[in-house]
Amino acid sequence: IKWTEGRGWHDAELVPYAPLSIDPANMTLHYAQTIFEGLKAYRQPDGTVATFRPEANAERFQTSARRMAMPELPVDLFIAACDALVAQDRAWVPDSGEASLYLRPFMFASEVGLGVRPANEFLFIVIASPAGAYFPGGVQPVSVWLSEEYVRAVKGGTGAAKTGGNYAASLVAQAQAASHGCDQVVWLDAVEHRWIEEMGGMNLYFVYGDRIVTPELTGSLLPGITRDSLLTIARDLGYTAEEGRITTEDWKRDNENGTLTEVFACGTAAVITPVGSVKSERANWTQGDGAPGQVTMRLRKALLELQTGHAADAHGWMHPLG
Ligand code: PMP
Repeated sequence: IKWTEGRGWHDAELVPYAPLSIDPANMTLHYAQTIFEGLKAYRQPDGTVATFRPEANAERFQTSARRMAMPELPVDLFIAACDALVAQDRAWVPDSGEASLYLRPFMFASEVGLGVRPANEFLFIVIASPAGAYFPGGVQPVSVWLSEEYVRAVKGGTGAAKTGGNYAASLVAQAQAASHGCDQVVWLDAVEHRWIEEMGGMNLYFVYGDRIVTPELTGSLLPGITRDSLLTIARDLGYTAEEGRITTEDWKRDNENGTLTEVFACGTAAVITPVGSVKSERANWTQGDGAPGQVTMRLRKALLELQTGHAADAHGWMHPLG
């Protein structure tokens, strides 16, 4: 779907996957005016297909668009575009289990020019790819690197928007994590470098017995849809679920004194991933006994059962496509 200043959204079309032809002076290539989303379509037990909370992705896409000086795509158009692609690609939705059809809606400036200003022409596209189970051999805890050198986002910055530049800026820290033998980066706040924010592509939860806490939305972390869903699912299961503020010192101390029983990350791609060990320039510890925790696995099962249609959709989150 195209957007042009003065004309709005126009020319929606469903075309076979193919390379785009890009002008070397395309504004996105230079100034990175781009946003994206990620969501999944799951096969349901009766053979139909359903996406999980697409309106939440559509709304976050609008928030990202406002922050990046881009036009807002109406929620119903976002959902209609995803639905049309899933209908076309139905055969690619895996038959069962945790596998899904991953959808990647995105928008970028399609105008040509070298002046630094918001573009007047944009292109919104949705592509799809089958995604296997994230942990085909069983859930594996990840090791995380606390990034004290780099920051992902600052107050007033673009941290709460799903825009390419945030991910570009994170790559060097991800490489640093890998060089320390860690799977993922944990981002800290930009001022004191001690408040836990989120992971590279997932939000975090801290489990204190039957109370679970996720870092509050400070404006510099992404408001994950999985994070938001788990606040509700955890309460449905009888846990206390809340947003709070946690420092790296709290994490280390509460793990040592045994009050912090589990830590997990959550996001569309991996659903829920246990955190097994933590490293930084100054510290190195095993989270709990390093194995996936009970609460983590219970929440993971509950969320996946909901998404794959094996549990009742009490909150109207599933969007059936027939
Ligand atoms: N944080 C970041 C930086 C992400 O890229 C993602 C993935 N979209 C998340 C958190 C988790 O968000 P969601 O649950 O909506 O996938």
